[in-house]
Amino acid sequence: MIVIAGVHTPEEHIQAIVEVIEKEGLQAHVSRGSDRTIIGLIGSVEPKLAEHLRQMKGVEDVVKISKSYKLASRDFHPENTVISIKGVNIGGGELVVMGGPCAVESAAQIDEIAGLVKAAGAQVLRGGAFKPRTGPYSFQGTGVEGLIMMAEAGQKHDLLTITEVMTPEYVDICAEYADILQVGTRNMQNFDLLRKLGTCGKPVLLKRGFSSTYDEFLNAAEYILAGGNPNVMLCERGIRTFETYTRNTLDLSAIPVLQQLSHLPVISDPSHGTGRRELVVPMTKASVAAGADGLIIEMHTDPDNSMTGDGVQSLFPDQFADLLKDLELLAPAIGKTFHTPSAVS
Ligand code: PEP
Ligand code: MN
Repeated sequence: MIVIAGVHTPEEHIQAIVEVIEKEGLQAHVSRGSDRTIIGLIGSVEPKLAEHLRQMKGVEDVVKISKSYKLASRDFHPENTVISIKGVNIGGGELVVMGGPCAVESAAQIDEIAGLVKAAGAQVLRGGAFKPRTGPYSFQGTGVEGLIMMAEAGQKHDLLTITEVMTPEYVDICAEYADILQVGTRNMQNFDLLRKLGTCGKPVLLKRGFSSTYDEFLNAAEYILAGGNPNVMLCERGIRTFETYTRNTLDLSAIPVLQQLSHLPVISDPSHGTGRRELVVPMTKASVAAGADGLIIEMHTDPDNSMTGDGVQSLFPDQFADLLKDLELLAPAIGKTFHTPSAVS
């Protein structure tokens, strides 16, 4: 349920509403928007309480919300969430690009790629140190050493970093070295991991499970939010369909749907969403046109020899740089900004 109060409702009236809710043993989440203040209730609400709240000073309406997720919903939080990390704002008007290899392979590799990611104008360096591989005999990642290599490359090239965390035990160490923690598609419903991320103190990029509905996806985000972490990004990375030509089917509808249902920033991953290099450029542009707040794109200097199978979907550095130049032109057409470094002559 939500209580709607006018934007000019004095603070003491809002506080009085919150007190009444908390006295009943329920949680109250206050969200101040530009045209109204929303007080969201979590817990089961007796009709008597709803009626009492309706009579209170400053209350314009009391509305029942039937969705199972609350904190993730736009009903609870009408304004977009903007996640600010060291001067980069995700979910605001600025398009955010995360680029880099599927996996951190060596210090030299991640350093070289970080330089190219920065030069192209991206704000975030991606790279997995812990890799979720389909088979147990495949390369599993460089682990903690990889985390350190990536943190050094990010620092040297002035980039934020994002890396995947697969188990609750590794959340603290990943949070120590990376700016954003990624939950992979296979772990979207690893509820112990999601709960742990609720208290990790770092923003989380949650990838959609490849067979998950929007409702399941938003409920997974709800676990992190309910644990006390408000900084969650939703990432569409393709779903499994009957089509075999592409690795997954990038669900472009997810972008506007999630933005309608939720206030959380929506990021698109056209690399895993297609699995084919030649489709990454058009699907990146399509994602931006559909309103994505950001992109996460694989790029490799030697994709044929990449240590994971994701070389086939990784852009070459010049393709990545050209794509970002195009995004600089495309972004303003849909009300966003994106700037590549101006050429030095
Ligand atoms: C990745 O980002 O390299 C990755 C493994 O992604 P996903 O979980 O979407 O497959
Ligand atoms: Mn990958």
